[in-house]
Amino acid sequence: MEDIVCNGCSLLCDDVVAEIDNGEVRSLGLCLLGFTHLDVALKHQESNSVDDKLEKAADLLASAENPLVFGWSNASNEAIKEGLALAETLGGHFDSVANLGVVQAMTHSIHSLKLDADLEYVRNNGEFIIYWGSDPAESVHRHPSRFAVLPRGEKIPEGVESRRIGVVDIRETETMKIANHRMIIPIGSDLEFLEAVTSELEGKSSITSSVLGIPAAEVIGFVSGFKKSDCTVIFYGSGILNSGNALEKLTALSRLVQAVRKSGKEAYALPMYPETNLMGVVNVADEIPSSLQKIVANEFTTALIVGDDPLSSLPGPAAKALAKAKLVYIGPPGGLADKKATVSIHTTDMIIQGSESMSRLDQVKIEFKPWRGVRKSETTSEILKKLHQLVKTKA
Ligand code: SF4
Repeated sequence: MEDIVCNGCSLLCDDVVAEIDNGEVRSLGLCLLGFTHLDVALKHQESNSVDDKLEKAADLLASAENPLVFGWSNASNEAIKEGLALAETLGGHFDSVANLGVVQAMTHSIHSLKLDADLEYVRNNGEFIIYWGSDPAESVHRHPSRFAVLPRGEKIPEGVESRRIGVVDIRETETMKIANHRMIIPIGSDLEFLEAVTSELEGKSSITSSVLGIPAAEVIGFVSGFKKSDCTVIFYGSGILNSGNALEKLTALSRLVQAVRKSGKEAYALPMYPETNLMGVVNVADEIPSSLQKIVANEFTTALIVGDDPLSSLPGPAAKALAKAKLVYIGPPGGLADKKATVSIHTTDMIIQGSESMSRLDQVKIEFKPWRGVRKSETTSEILKKLHQLVKTKA
């Protein structure tokens, strides 16, 4: 078996092995999601020349005024860099689904508080682990078993027995089943609950009755988790990032972290999301103005979509408007953007390509590992480089 890197989700597991035998995949360490991802990628290996399609794509993009250059959630860091350069040559607008929450989180003052800890640090030190509006059991399967809940660490000698787990969500989740503190709050009340917990922690209020329907004793028990643990790590997900008032909620979250730190304990907060390389977009691009309003207003008549399917992931009105534009799609086959595109250029998935890099959800850069015996094909960044050269000749 060979060492590989899985890009089935934002955890980018690089501790897994796999082999391909007569078109069949065998693996060790991959979760079900990763195994399915590898199996699908294997069936979609590309080896055809894409040069004639690139010519068409370059014509379309070079003749467009202010094209949208969008996507990137499953593109390499190298491809994102090429995409930025191409957008500049085209005089276009570079944007990504990372702008639907993760960019806001990473540019919010919460991240100037030195709140980032890498996942190895969490494994070794994280004593109170909180999943707030995020459920790894749904989409980042190995997060608890590899880093945050089950493994032993330097200061976590007994693994899960040495940790305290809290889950805050609007419904009962799979991860809640392994939690010591299960906080089910009404939809849209994250801010209120964050403020109640912080006030109690700061000693500014005293909880004597239920909070948002959760009995007082349970909330007090949850708050005591922060006081009893030397290192708290909050993994916040769509409940904070994608359900409105994200900036206000991030500010409240940073207050909570600061309150824990004032009591002399360590505390960190990291965003959680399933898409593979949103952190690559954040790391590579300095600033990404949102294009959402312009998409909805049909301002883009031509768009280049790379490594993503925004027609299925953007909010309805934006997806509907974007579907009316002339699309050039570059990425693995399948999905709505691929079907709707005027020009579709198919690539082999990075799990098979085994080259270039992506950024894990804690910002750690992960280099992909080459497979022996897998036929080589052009990477997305190589295709974008060719496209860029062609566009320059037509500009
Ligand atoms: S957790 Fe994510 S990266 Fe790891 S094996 Fe599963 S799908 Fe792949």
